[in-house]
Amino acid sequence: MSDRRGIPIILSSPSGAGKSTLSKLLMKWDPSITFSVSATTRKPRDGEVDGRDYYFRTRDEFQQMVENGEMLEHAEVFGNFYGSPFGPVETALKVGRDIIFDIDWQGGQQIRGSALAADLVTIFILPPSIAELENRLRGRGQDSDEVIADRMTKSRDEISHWAEYDYCIVNHDIADSEAQLKAILTAERLRRTRQSGLVDFVRDLNVQFGERAK
Ligand code: ADP
Ligand code: 5GP
Repeated sequence: MSDRRGIPIILSSPSGAGKSTLSKLLMKWDPSITFSVSATTRKPRDGEVDGRDYYFRTRDEFQQMVENGEMLEHAEVFGNFYGSPFGPVETALKVGRDIIFDIDWQGGQQIRGSALAADLVTIFILPPSIAELENRLRGRGQDSDEVIADRMTKSRDEISHWAEYDYCIVNHDIADSEAQLKAILTAERLRRTRQSGLVDFVRDLNVQFGERAK
């Protein structure tokens, strides 16, 4: 168990800019980082696993989770409902595990207004260009032309929220973006206020000064 509270990290971007790819790379770098598995009413894509990528739920089941107060935040995105269940987040943060939320700007705003706000780190991923954003959505090969067109239309809205975030990464080269993401997390972990063990450490340094003076 870590002696600091975990850091809630929000990653937002227009669909296709690279947040799932980057969050997977971050978790590979440090397997102690947890991913907040969202619940959604969207249908699974090929290869997506219930409980790993999302909790795939019916609209009724989703609504029930909201009514039971199980969601930290929830929003409608592209005609489906998405939400972050609160339980796993609380558990991760309590034992000092950092947790990544791959959520949209609406979820970001709700979490900024929640009890997690004080510890929060928010990062927005921008695409290098709109043409490249569309290439990436097409290259992913998992959405129909209609779904891609809808996501491209909504990206403008998502991008309009970029300035609400603490950090922005323009995802040109994936290795550069990965390095920038690691740098952000490394610096955030070193914030004095997160290093709760420092008070005792410095007290001990002062004891050592006292001993030298004898
Ligand atoms: P998001 O989670 O933001 O919707 P993904 O991580 O699924 O986006 O990325 C969309 C597609 O773009 C994927 O096929 C991914 O492999 C690719 N991709 C991500 N980052 C880059 C990059 N820097 N250069 C080229 N392709 C990328
Ligand atoms: P996708 O369908 O491509 O997996 O996700 C579509 C959008 O929904 C992305 O912008 C993603 O970040 C967002 N999203 C995923 N899970 C959540 C969630 O729990 N809450 C909110 N607010 N947005 C989410």
